[in-house]
Amino acid sequence: MANGQGLEVLHVDMDAFYAAVEVRANPSLAGRPVIVGGAGPRGVVASCSYEARAWGVRSAMSSTRARRLCPDAVFLAGHYDAYSEVSQQLHRILNSFTPLVEGIALDEAFLDVSGVHRLFGSTVEIAKRIRTVVDQELGLACSVGVARSKLIAKLASRMAKPTATRAGTLPGPGVVVVEADTEQAFLQPLPVTAIWGVGPATAERLARLGVVTVGHLAALPMASLVSALGLAHGRSLYDLSHGRDQRPVVPDRAMKSVGHEETYAVDDHQHDSLRRQVVRMGDAVASRLRDAGLGGRTVTLKVRFADFSTITRSRTLAAPIDTARDITQIGWALLDPIDVSVGVRLLGVSVSYLVTAGPALPRQLSLDDLGEAGPGRHRGPGHPPPNPSPSDWNDASTAVDAVRARFGTDAVAPASLVGSDGIEVKRRGDTQWGPAR
Ligand SMILES: [Mg+2]
Repeated sequence: MANGQGLEVLHVDMDAFYAAVEVRANPSLAGRPVIVGGAGPRGVVASCSYEARAWGVRSAMSSTRARRLCPDAVFLAGHYDAYSEVSQQLHRILNSFTPLVEGIALDEAFLDVSGVHRLFGSTVEIAKRIRTVVDQELGLACSVGVARSKLIAKLASRMAKPTATRAGTLPGPGVVVVEADTEQAFLQPLPVTAIWGVGPATAERLARLGVVTVGHLAALPMASLVSALGLAHGRSLYDLSHGRDQRPVVPDRAMKSVGHEETYAVDDHQHDSLRRQVVRMGDAVASRLRDAGLGGRTVTLKVRFADFSTITRSRTLAAPIDTARDITQIGWALLDPIDVSVGVRLLGVSVSYLVTAGPALPRQLSLDDLGEAGPGRHRGPGHPPPNPSPSDWNDASTAVDAVRARFGTDAVAPASLVGSDGIEVKRRGDTQWGPAR
């Protein structure tokens, strides 16, 4: 693991994210103060460009105050679908470097790069490369902090940011590295609120103890902190103030599933039509899995009946799957024994127990995978089958994704989805398909 050893933790944070996406969509806004947020009397600033920050505008500030500070600002209501889409693209880029990506916001993530130096070079080279790829592929800027721990990496990325001035925005260093032996010097001058777990209430309590900076906090004996804040909180702040943060980067996929569910306008009592819904959902889920470079071992079917009672049925497999055919087959097997005569108002298919399959997987560097049979293929008796590589799982599925990427989602679909009035295919990012036909 990275923590406690080398500089293996990156914190990647997009610069002025929402505002930057808006400027990208409308280049005439470049260089102008742009504020994304509610423009009404109770509105709040969600994001603002550096040109607006130069006038003191900040996120979470009331829009009324922001307008007073910066009367020339362009106020935009925001396009959250677009931000979410860019966020997915960003996470795809980050996942192309390492599967150890922990997203903490739409535009922020931690990476543990300890396993990928042979592929991508030193930690600092990886940090710079991420900035280049994000710039080239998304046309957006990000800042990267590099350190031994999440705590310091996150603080370092702030130091890497551009600086807003009224004469113009000064570029930041882009990448800031905090070496182990400079952590204390880096941390001590920062305000205590820079540390996780120090909200306004704690900050006020600490201020009564004369604690304003992290350095002040680190100078206190642990016993004083514990008596002021309680055992767990006191101890945690004591450790953090000394730069001790053992929290590992926890990849998102360790906890997540990919799935879809739909509530029907009219209860469905027929196995046949429900089976067709399973095909549709299986296809959508498979596409999203492959898009994220993931496979999953558990397929879950969720059924809510007309009386709102809800059941789930799952099956866990020995090997991960990522194809529509496999997911559908299992979905059908789960559906068939269920008595649907009372009527089904909601159906859902999800895949969990996810495993990564990206190009950065360390196992793909293993010599075992480079035998004559090629990566990911079983080499006969005496050789245990290697973990399946998704590129091998189903070439046809990959081809479907490629066609869709080029010609649109509707270009390809399983035969049973083709109805008299076209193809119904779940689009990524939709939460609902809408009522069944
Ligand atoms: Mg940001």
